[in-house]
Amino acid sequence: MQVLKFGGSSVANAKNINNVVTIIKQALKSDATVVVVSALGGVTDALLEAASLASYGEIVYKDKLHEIEHRHLATVKELIPLDQQSSVLSAIKKRCNEIEDICNGVFLLKELSRRTTDAIISYGELISSQIITAKLKSAAIINTWKDARQLIVTNSEFGNANVDFTITNKNIQGFFSAADADIFIIPGFIARDKSGNTTTLGRGGSDYTAAIIGAASKASVVEIWTDVSGMMTADPRLVSHAKIIQHISYQEAMELSHFGAKVIYPPTIQPLMSKGIPVCIKNTFAPADEGTWITNVSKLTDKHIRGISSINNLSLLSLEGSGMVGIPGFSKRLFEALSNEKINVILITQSSSEHSICVGIEEANADRAKEIIDAAFAYEIEIKKVEPLKVEKDLAIVALVGDNMKSHPGISGKMFGVLGRNGVNVRAIAQGSSERNISAVIAVEDVKKAINVLHEEFFETTFKQVNIFISGTGNVGSKLLAQLQQQLQHLEDDLRLHVRVSAISNSRKMLFNDEGIDLSNWKKLMEEAEDMELDRFIKNIQQKNLRNSVFVDITADDTIAKTYPQYLQKSISVVACNKIACSSSYDYYKKLKDLAREFNAPFLFETNVGAGLPVIGTLNDLLRSGDKVNKIEAVLSGTLNFVFNNYTGEKSFANVVKQAQDEGYTEPDPRLDLSGMDVMRKIMILARETGEKLEMENITNESFMPLSCMKGDVANFYKEMEMHEQHFFNLVSKAKAEGKKLKFVAKFDKGNASVGLQLIGPQHDFYHLYGKDNAVLFYTNRYTEQPLVIKGAGAGAEVTASGVFADIIRAAG
Ligand code: ADP
Ligand code: ASP
Ligand code: MG
Repeated sequence: MQVLKFGGSSVANAKNINNVVTIIKQALKSDATVVVVSALGGVTDALLEAASLASYGEIVYKDKLHEIEHRHLATVKELIPLDQQSSVLSAIKKRCNEIEDICNGVFLLKELSRRTTDAIISYGELISSQIITAKLKSAAIINTWKDARQLIVTNSEFGNANVDFTITNKNIQGFFSAADADIFIIPGFIARDKSGNTTTLGRGGSDYTAAIIGAASKASVVEIWTDVSGMMTADPRLVSHAKIIQHISYQEAMELSHFGAKVIYPPTIQPLMSKGIPVCIKNTFAPADEGTWITNVSKLTDKHIRGISSINNLSLLSLEGSGMVGIPGFSKRLFEALSNEKINVILITQSSSEHSICVGIEEANADRAKEIIDAAFAYEIEIKKVEPLKVEKDLAIVALVGDNMKSHPGISGKMFGVLGRNGVNVRAIAQGSSERNISAVIAVEDVKKAINVLHEEFFETTFKQVNIFISGTGNVGSKLLAQLQQQLQHLEDDLRLHVRVSAISNSRKMLFNDEGIDLSNWKKLMEEAEDMELDRFIKNIQQKNLRNSVFVDITADDTIAKTYPQYLQKSISVVACNKIACSSSYDYYKKLKDLAREFNAPFLFETNVGAGLPVIGTLNDLLRSGDKVNKIEAVLSGTLNFVFNNYTGEKSFANVVKQAQDEGYTEPDPRLDLSGMDVMRKIMILARETGEKLEMENITNESFMPLSCMKGDVANFYKEMEMHEQHFFNLVSKAKAEGKKLKFVAKFDKGNASVGLQLIGPQHDFYHLYGKDNAVLFYTNRYTEQPLVIKGAGAGAEVTASGVFADIIRAAG
């Protein structure tokens, strides 16, 4: 014999029931079959709602009941030929009248006990099973309908009754040995107590009915037919890449379902495991799919964990106090108090100091638990040996499950590492001694992110999702977006990164799309986007709580530079092209660095010095590997280099500066370059990276610019430069006369930083710097005589964008 159970969605309407009939016909070819059915999807909830409305004296319960009746009758009319409908329609009508009678009583008394609730909701399965029986008959499949209440006997724990297996097994064995049929239809979920009252087995309990019957009748297999093609590596509603598990052990399936994998009701496995009866989870809507086999042995795979699950609505109770240390009996009293109130304990941890015990329970019971535990420990609380019970709400459990975890160290390290990197705070941890499960208690709002990053870490080693939020769509910003668009495929293929730009903003507009903004059309989308509001932009990103998030600042805006802490504190990495944050006060720079470390979120700003050149990265590599920097010499202004390389006196100095601006090498305000300010910022950042507490006022700047050029606005700046053309001409002529070149050089030596124009002879590393090139010389303990030289294009939107791009990839890695 085999048992097939069909869930609520499988029998939700006439079309689906037709699928079920086809599956049953197929099954009948191989063996005698017991069919266990749930109520039509949503009916149990609808009955509960009607009952509850009646108990509040809300007459609309009648409308609800009529809807339920109408849905069942309509299903029959669609399913069964007209000439065979009448008996089943009248049977259903009769059942519906009974429901209404009970609800009328509830309405009059305004009282709804758990016992009455069970009586009401049992009708869902009673009616659905009668519909299926009638449908099979109409298809000439002779079958026997059997009321589960005549087989399964429980205690009187209404709503979640415990099965008396001695009586139940006897009933089932007696029934099937006497029965002479090939196919039986049995309503799931319902049973009776010893006095004959209807009870139910807990929400989702039809699976359990199938297991009880399967175990007692020693079925060859129990098939759970549902709306997914098996048990998956995570809840498919939370993780879009969840995969079907082909084979799983009883214990693993039990752990996964206990920790929230709703696809199977947790008590279902136990009776089948003890008899070694295999369970198969199959999809009613894709019957050809293999499904999941749950058996004694877990097939060995290269994966150490089998699945990830989660339970929401958890509260953590902490009993703490010095009076507990070394004194036996505290936990017994705690658990006794909970058990007397029938409060189920989901998770337990105790610190090894015995100073505290922490238990996780369903949130609905939290207030009651607080009352009874505080009462149970009233004396100890009064004499201050124990503190009043601490209750934390809005929590959830995420659990990693797998038989193979046992002998593989490092799994919990990996689990907590990945949660930590994504800013998920772990409140409590439990690992069963079977080492088949590691559970972590986290905030409910973090569940989706946590499950996804864990899934990526343990099951999708192939891919990692990266979410980018960009501010700034100017020169560099547009180039970056274009590069990203071009490189998406390469990132997927070669780096295994799924990169998604989830937000773009500029000073006027902001655009969001969790699925990733279409980068081929971002300009148009931006035009139609909502108006920019900085606070809302940040809140929105924080609330999304997406994994592997990177905020990218490609503005030159000081208000945006002030927002970085709000990202870092949420473990969102920050990539800054904007130099303002790193070149503002040392305290702020330090604060950002510290936040980055504390919240495991990289803060990267490679492009602040040398655009796309790997200057800061190289410096950090040197320092991290134990080298010591003794001196830095650098030409760090692409603009000044361009200007002095191109200025010969033919065109005016002002003209050459304008050309640098037009070609996109200068800062948005070119005076920052010409004054040497930009170079000061850069040498300061390099010095700070070596550990020096340097401020702008500590840097000497011997400006070559006539003072009057720096007064007034940019127009005046150009005008004044024209006026001082002779001054600039004298500078180059002098250099030329000596066979030298003019370079604006930054220096950091023994704690002192300075910038200024220098005459560079042909022997010097800086002599052969062309166009807008930069060069940085690091003199270190390892590079003493010959410095480590980094040289190349140090300005321009394209190279800067590629530097930002590299930082993003680094942050995501
Ligand atoms: P039925 O009505 O057939 O009993 P349920 O709704 O009780 O079906 O269970 C099936 C649902 O369980 C799926 O639609 C899926 O959304 C959910 N689910 C949660 N976790 C998992 C998981 N790990 N694997 C498969 N399904 C899961
Ligand atoms: N109909 C019941 C419920 O919705 C039992 C089941 O579907 O398994 O909980
Ligand atoms: Mg179910």
